[in-house]
Amino acid sequence: MLILGGGLTGLSAALHVRRKPVRLVEREQRVGGHARSRRRDGFTFDITGHWLHVRDARVHQLIDALFDADEWITVDRRTRVYSHNTLLPYPFQANLFGLPREVVHECLTGFFTAHTAAQRDSTPPRTFAAFVESRFGAGISRHFFVPYNTKLWGMHPDGLTPDWVTRYVPVPNADQVIAGAIGLPQEGLGYNAQFRYPRAGGIDHLPNRIYRELTTRRGRGQPVRIDLATDVEEIDPTNRRIKLDRDPNWIAYERLISTIPLPELIRRIPTAPSSVVAAANALRWVRWRWLDIATNRPPRADYHWVYVPEPELPFFRVGIYSNACPQMAPPGGASLYVELSDRDAVPSEPAVIRALCAMNVLRSPEDVVFCEPRSVEYAYVVFDDAWADATRTIFAWLERVGIHSCGRYGAWIYNAMQDCLLAGIEAAAWAETDAT
Ligand SMILES: Cc1cc2nc3c(=O)[nH]c(=O)nc-3n(C[C@H](O)[C@H](O)[C@H](O)COP(=O)(O)OP(=O)(O)OC[C@H]3O[C@@H](n4cnc5c(N)ncnc54)[C@H](O)[C@@H]3O)c2cc1C
Repeated sequence: MLILGGGLTGLSAALHVRRKPVRLVEREQRVGGHARSRRRDGFTFDITGHWLHVRDARVHQLIDALFDADEWITVDRRTRVYSHNTLLPYPFQANLFGLPREVVHECLTGFFTAHTAAQRDSTPPRTFAAFVESRFGAGISRHFFVPYNTKLWGMHPDGLTPDWVTRYVPVPNADQVIAGAIGLPQEGLGYNAQFRYPRAGGIDHLPNRIYRELTTRRGRGQPVRIDLATDVEEIDPTNRRIKLDRDPNWIAYERLISTIPLPELIRRIPTAPSSVVAAANALRWVRWRWLDIATNRPPRADYHWVYVPEPELPFFRVGIYSNACPQMAPPGGASLYVELSDRDAVPSEPAVIRALCAMNVLRSPEDVVFCEPRSVEYAYVVFDDAWADATRTIFAWLERVGIHSCGRYGAWIYNAMQDCLLAGIEAAAWAETDAT
């Protein structure tokens, strides 16, 4: 059994294969993929917020099997929205109180107009922009969803389909919208009101512990071989064999699980039909650029993260790791991430820090110990008009040639770490069925 990629999906698959020998190939020097952490001078940073939201009992069981009970903390989410110079509870659509009165008026009128229209017309919206307008109305779209998502996706939401949203965008009822508009905070809405996180700081404790379990597996299950710093050069699905960059010989496999990004997988299969190559070329994604910031004084803000729709600010979300997990910074200090709207250029760091002070996130620019730009190539899959047809074409072919491509970038979807751990369990079950 061959597994490509040592992120959470690949590691979970390796962990759950019991009856067959496993070889896992990972391009980087260490496992974890997007769930890796970076440490500097006592500060810890993830690839921006990586909070584990668990709703599935199998994931709780997995964590409990791998860790002692006191190695994880459970945190009640504290999130805010910064809009019109005001800090609101999250989500915006259910917490309008505090905004300028004309904005509240516009948002409420729009919400009830949309509500009435939805009772007459139930045609599913075609774009994400139409989805938010039909659910929340023109005002809430204009003041939050459109500017926030334009910054997050790097494009107007009328270029996106609503395929990814249902689980992630909380839709309050009329009662909640009214309550939130007159000052009764509506918190705890949405899929992630609580999360779990390693007490010692750094989400990489999770992949690292699975790695340790796999590499010390003695007498329990089949052996696992993990090749780090090894790239996949070519895949020949007809003959079920693969070539790695460190080895000129072909390696035979019985079953292949791939968790590497889908376009990268197809690029490594020279025999892929032209329709599949064209479909892979149609896939789009957004890369992420953010700042890791360390401070030597506690921040002014007490929340875990804040959404920033304001178009004039160069970031769309700011998180404070150490407010959720104090071990992410030395005593008295803080570690933060600032997710930047511009994917190509880093905005002026002093300007970002000044904006954070103006928003009352930080107390003073002098508190900053260091500020470092970071980026990842594959962050969010873009759900545009091409997505459904392209992924259908690719997966139909991959199934025919016996490759199981899964995980966030292998399945080419929007998901979270919990889903990846579960995708690994499913992939292992697929791999242990008799090969055809
Ligand atoms: C900015 C951001 C914030 C997020 N926040 C959260 C959050 O708060 N909570 C949450 O639950 N989830 C969050 N996620 C999602 C989470 O990171 C992913 O769902 C999960 O980590 C994906 O795991 P994976 O194994 O499917 O993919 P990956 O982590 O991408 O793993 C794939 C692995 O394949 C390797 N690889 C790639 N190409 C090759 C190759 N050619 N040969 C060999 N190996 C290769 C990579 O190095 C990587 O290790 C976030 C994601 C992003 C981008």
